[in-house]
Amino acid sequence: FVGAPKTLRELIDGGRQFNDQPFTHYLGVDQSFGEFFARVDALAHQLKYHFGLNAGERVAIAMRNRPEWLEAYAAITALPAIVVPLNSWGSAAELDFQLRDSGAKLLICDTQRAALAADIPNLQLLCVDDWSPSQTKTGKSDYEQLISAAMGQAMPALENEIDPESPVQIMYTSGTSGRPKGAVSCHRNICQALMSFEYHAYSSAMANPDSMAHIMGCGFAPCTLLSFPLFHVSGCYSAFLLNLRGGRRVVIGYKWDAKHALEIIENQRVTIFSGSPAMLQDLMQHPDFKQHDTSSLFSLGAGGSACPPALTQTLEQQLPRHYFGTGYGMTESNAICSSCTGAAFHLKPGSAGTLNPLVEFKTCDSDGQPLERGTTGEIWLRSPTNILGYWNNEDATAALFATDLSGNQWMNTGDTGYLDDDNFVYLVGRNKELIIRGGENIYPAEIEAALSQIRGIKETAVFGLPDQRLGEVPVAVIVLEDGVELQPESLKEQLKSRLAAFKIPENIWFSPTPLPRNAAGKLLKSDLKAQYIQ
Ligand code: ATP
Ligand code: MG
Repeated sequence: FVGAPKTLRELIDGGRQFNDQPFTHYLGVDQSFGEFFARVDALAHQLKYHFGLNAGERVAIAMRNRPEWLEAYAAITALPAIVVPLNSWGSAAELDFQLRDSGAKLLICDTQRAALAADIPNLQLLCVDDWSPSQTKTGKSDYEQLISAAMGQAMPALENEIDPESPVQIMYTSGTSGRPKGAVSCHRNICQALMSFEYHAYSSAMANPDSMAHIMGCGFAPCTLLSFPLFHVSGCYSAFLLNLRGGRRVVIGYKWDAKHALEIIENQRVTIFSGSPAMLQDLMQHPDFKQHDTSSLFSLGAGGSACPPALTQTLEQQLPRHYFGTGYGMTESNAICSSCTGAAFHLKPGSAGTLNPLVEFKTCDSDGQPLERGTTGEIWLRSPTNILGYWNNEDATAALFATDLSGNQWMNTGDTGYLDDDNFVYLVGRNKELIIRGGENIYPAEIEAALSQIRGIKETAVFGLPDQRLGEVPVAVIVLEDGVELQPESLKEQLKSRLAAFKIPENIWFSPTPLPRNAAGKLLKSDLKAQYIQ
């Protein structure tokens, strides 16, 4: 990527050329690129001169998706300070841990988060809402007052060039397998991840005649609906930073609501939907789907977790001429590993796609010995987009990386999978979720995929429970579609034609409520498992 931006300041500045063109739309209000950058510059000015922030200091953001989130991210990283995007779904204890762990000096937040963080010592708050610690209304928010006061000021000049190797972001992992870890990236990690992502997306879109025809037929005015939370790589990179750099419009969804998403798609002529498989499923299954004009949509992406086969089938049946995409990546690789878009999505159903540029991939046995292509094993990645390490956590960082005999550093993803003969990645599960039933290995994802193909099943979660004789046995928790009645025994019977006998769940339970998920739509299996062990 010769000539590609090397720092986030350079990357974000790429959006300045689109001056009068529309950038964000939020709750009925439009903002142009020019207006966005005027506010970013004013905020950066205040971060430097009002708060006295220096390079290397941490500034956290904790708020729902809204335009101020984007402004804060752009101003902090351009300064350059270290941005710490926090999970706005988190509890007070989680927010408290991440603020203390990162050592943030300033928190830019909304009212709810301000109330949760008010007692942390030495932490300054900048609230985007009309809020003060005494809960008395102050009129214009502190954030707005500071921005107005510095309007017209240019971005602070840099005393020194920004070092592309310097840390710029601490992004906490989703916490699916335990307490979230602060993944530290430098400018170069993120810039290269974005370039790799963009290159893969464009090359596959251009190679697809159907998507080109659709683009030309609808007088293409690209517009993304941001459904992912911004504090995860998926929302922050593909929906925000890539659109900012590329001059494309973004409609910001405050929080996920399928009905609201359908209305926005219709009113704003959204062309690109980017969300989790669970969100896409909510959208497609919504009873009002057909009542809304979704004809502007041409591209639908679902990332962050496996796309269930039933969802793939629904997409193909209901939207036969659309362009679909899925991908595999993690916070620690800055979202990059593989992407499966356009024709590849149909040719290799169930695959996580081909490797993104810059990524090297291998599978190993549990002793770290490389395996033959096609053999399932632990997935290791070597990529310039891999993080520098975890913040404040040397043990976890040491466990993340290993050096091979040639001196190359590889990262252990904690996932299991393989690469097929055509270079397509297949995910089999997480190493930690592997169930060993009397010596036989069982990956929950395979059973979940088989269950999700049975009519009437809406959600599935498979995990292992302790068993005195076999060590561990698979069990399933299922949510049925409204009005459907199924019995565990008949389900087991139906699974017999799809799975080996030892993989049939020992117990199948029906949950009357939706399964617990985190902000990225991922199943919180450890919570569910704890509940069922009890
Ligand atoms: P934590 O690391 O805190 O336990 P997490 O791993 O869920 O949380 P993320 O970095 O947000 O945090 O998620 C990355 C993980 O999500 C991957 O390592 C993988 O297990 C899973 N994942 C991502 N994409 C896919 C996919 N296409 N199919 C299956 N699993 C996926
Ligand atoms: Mg992880």
